[in-house]
Amino acid sequence: MLGGGIGGLAAALALARRGRAVRVFEQGAEFKEIGAGIQLGPNVYRMFDALRLTAAIERYSVHPDNLVMMDAITGEEVIRLHVGAAEFRQRFDGYRYGVIHRGDLHQVLLDACRAERAIELQTLKKGERVEDLGDRVLLHLEGGERVAGCALIGADGLWSRIRAQLLADGKPRVSGHIAYRAVLPRAEVPDDLWQNNVVLWAGPKTHLVHYPLRRGELYNLVAVFHSDRYEEGWDVFGDAGELHRKFAHERPEVKRLLDKINVWKMWVLCDREPVRHYSQGRVTLLGDAAHPMLQYLAQGANMAIEDAVVLAAYAEISGWDFARAFRWYEDARYLRNARVQTTARYYGDIYHASGVVREVRNWFLAPGPKADPGAKPSFEGVAWLYEGIRIPTAAPG
Ligand SMILES: Cc1cc2nc3c(=O)[nH]c(=O)nc-3n(C[C@H](O)[C@H](O)[C@H](O)COP(=O)(O)OP(=O)(O)OC[C@H]3O[C@@H](n4cnc5c(N)ncnc54)[C@H](O)[C@@H]3O)c2cc1C
Repeated sequence: MLGGGIGGLAAALALARRGRAVRVFEQGAEFKEIGAGIQLGPNVYRMFDALRLTAAIERYSVHPDNLVMMDAITGEEVIRLHVGAAEFRQRFDGYRYGVIHRGDLHQVLLDACRAERAIELQTLKKGERVEDLGDRVLLHLEGGERVAGCALIGADGLWSRIRAQLLADGKPRVSGHIAYRAVLPRAEVPDDLWQNNVVLWAGPKTHLVHYPLRRGELYNLVAVFHSDRYEEGWDVFGDAGELHRKFAHERPEVKRLLDKINVWKMWVLCDREPVRHYSQGRVTLLGDAAHPMLQYLAQGANMAIEDAVVLAAYAEISGWDFARAFRWYEDARYLRNARVQTTARYYGDIYHASGVVREVRNWFLAPGPKADPGAKPSFEGVAWLYEGIRIPTAAPG
């Protein structure tokens, strides 16, 4: 395994749970996650069950009552999905919607990996390229070291070296959208702005998301805006002045929350066009290396964990014939990942609409005048995503 992020650790764990020995090579000096919140759909809780992680996840996660979209100009509520409702849980086989600190999710995975004897974790090992020798692979690490193994999974993220070698499809697409993120302690959030909801304030070419984290001890803020000033950037300090200018015409609730933060970390948001094939022989890709997506459906890590569970299942079903298992895995995953990748772009356009398009959005999404307030909520619009996947139990037919 190359890369010890959420995808790489989930895949190592999924393979080890099926009895396979795995070595994970991570370029960093330690295994850690930067960043703040991660939303967890019912689809990924199904995977946590399969990986026997649900109890550990529940020690940190928060279950919001609603996902709410607000118009950041008028302050009107555009749409609300009652994810805390009993009906939501029933609709998705008992699985809930959650939010978790990225570091907590990563730590849960890391602890589970450390508890597996079959997993060897190595830091300060940067992969450069891989050779497929037919009956095994040879991973070339920076500094000249070579490591032999049965197969290689490139879980090395957006700027994947393994992808560059397999697909040679250039750099990721810079979306022109920038995310600034910060985390506030609960005590610093004014009471009237604290909600047990995932709230998205949609403004012209901007949005702000906030939700509680870590059993409600923290408040996660992510502010996104369009800018062509940045080409690349990851976890570097953001320019608060630029941020305030971008949100200058928005609701006081938005500006009061932005005012609470002095130091922002910045991400330049990138994705790629979906591709049909990303495996070659005994080498494949997983997570952001395979299908980087904008975060507007909050599913990149969820998809990486689904990838991990499916890949491990097929590896075992194939009798550990990795070349065959990787083809099955790719066939099983590419359309769902591509749907999330492309839908996420579309959601970005909806969130950032301006002018008449913004009005159309609000009109289109609002419950109609004849909406029955007593009617049961419907979750069919998100069912394709949140119903999740079946874990393979046999070779594809
Ligand atoms: C602002 C923002 C909000 C998001 N919110 C959500 C959300 O709510 N829900 C959700 O599901 N997803 C969300 N995502 C997406 C999610 O963060 C990613 O999809 C997920 O972290 C991808 O995990 P990964 O393991 O594939 O890649 P990464 O997390 O990038 O991990 C790659 C790992 O590989 C290592 N590495 C890289 N190159 C090498 C090399 N050559 N050799 C060795 N090691 C290497 C890196 O150091 C890193 O540890 C969000 C993303 C952003 C930017």
